[in-house]
Amino acid sequence: MADSGLTNSRIVASYREKTPGSAGLAKQAMELLPSGIAHDARYLEPYGIYVERAKGPHKWDVDGNRYVDYFGGHGALLLGHNHPKVIEAARQALETGTHFGANHPAEVRWAEAIQRLVPSAERVRFTSSGTEATLMAVRLARAFTGRETLVRFKTHFHGWHDHMTSGYASHFDGSATPGVLQGVAGKVILLEPGDLAAVSACLAGSGDIAAIILEPTGGSFGLVPNRPEFVQGLRRLTEKHGVLLILDEVVTGFRVSSGGAQTAFGVRPDLSSFAKIVAGGLPGAAVAGRKEILDRLDFAATRREGQEKIQHPGTYNANPVSAAAGAAALEIIRTSDACARANRTAGDIRTALNLALERQHVPWAAYGTYSGFHLFMNPKGRPISPSKFDPFAVGYDELKAQPTALANKLRLAMLINGVDVTGRIGGVVSATHGPDDVGETAAAFENSIEMLKREGELPA
Ligand code: PMP
Repeated sequence: MADSGLTNSRIVASYREKTPGSAGLAKQAMELLPSGIAHDARYLEPYGIYVERAKGPHKWDVDGNRYVDYFGGHGALLLGHNHPKVIEAARQALETGTHFGANHPAEVRWAEAIQRLVPSAERVRFTSSGTEATLMAVRLARAFTGRETLVRFKTHFHGWHDHMTSGYASHFDGSATPGVLQGVAGKVILLEPGDLAAVSACLAGSGDIAAIILEPTGGSFGLVPNRPEFVQGLRRLTEKHGVLLILDEVVTGFRVSSGGAQTAFGVRPDLSSFAKIVAGGLPGAAVAGRKEILDRLDFAATRREGQEKIQHPGTYNANPVSAAAGAAALEIIRTSDACARANRTAGDIRTALNLALERQHVPWAAYGTYSGFHLFMNPKGRPISPSKFDPFAVGYDELKAQPTALANKLRLAMLINGVDVTGRIGGVVSATHGPDDVGETAAAFENSIEMLKREGELPA
């Protein structure tokens, strides 16, 4: 076990007692997969739960334990697990064929569904993941502008390709992370999140900026929040300097509002990346935006303009099952109050968690916007009042810093109490989470704090 704080822990002992089936699978997985896992966010000491099935806001592990789920398919499941209409669309698609190696009707319906909700999506190109979507967005921006440098903001996440690894969780000086060429990392300028003056100076000082990319509501869905005015200001500055604005709406798309953060903020980006919700909980993603930019992928347009076309194959681009599920999910989102409901419930969760913190006299805070929540664990011991916490008054380094061992134990305690929160202690809320889930979550949180107190991790 990497963390000695977890040995001789009653929390760890109870977790092990409750999850013997997961422990057995984890032991096998350790011999097969690095760290026994398939995604870094699933790393947990001593091991994570193994989930067998899910429905609505809940999931069940192999030991039959039920959890209120705040991973939400890493943000893909605004409609909760297994929405009947999405599953039916996917099932019908499965029965007719999983890959035609040809154009198919569902991809047309899927692109139409995106365009109906996102007016800036004049053209859409499907990819398999959000990482591929932001990679293509950057390539399009470079080809279109003839410039090389990309501006990003510290803490903002855009997937794991080579342009996006520095400055998200580490390497805030812009140096390359392991396996990435310094020449690639060196073409990325990392700026302070929220600092329009820095952006203005950067764009004025360099003629080589192809694009700015950002998460519109802030790094990691508002863990380090942005104000809408920041995004609006970026639009003005990028227009002034002929730089492209790429909104990475992989999480915020079809979640913040049915038209994403761009609709909520009244900003029309040049390009957007979408994934997660866009494919209804199946693998799938898209880059979308101005026709003249996506024309760099178009055979006839590039021929006409005498340009070299950007190549873009991809075996699973717009695969029929994801296309069917995605189109069905987007139609439900367009015609229901799913976004508003999830936003409201997340607000109730933040309030309930803060009330629990105040009752327990713990100087942490639940915060967030739209359908997300984050826990500030106050690494510098600031005197704060949970309900009144203002994340804008705290630097990104402090918002990001989390006592790893304590967060790990808190997560285990929440699992023991039937709630699955993310490793950074937070989560995304779906339209299927209801008042009972909010109540269960608040009670689990308060129990977990009491367990941490009993273990001497927090003052009694
Ligand atoms: N951008 C953002 C804002 C994301 O949150 C993510 C994934 N969490 C990605 C890009 C990468 O998407 P994917 O995991 O589908 O590659």
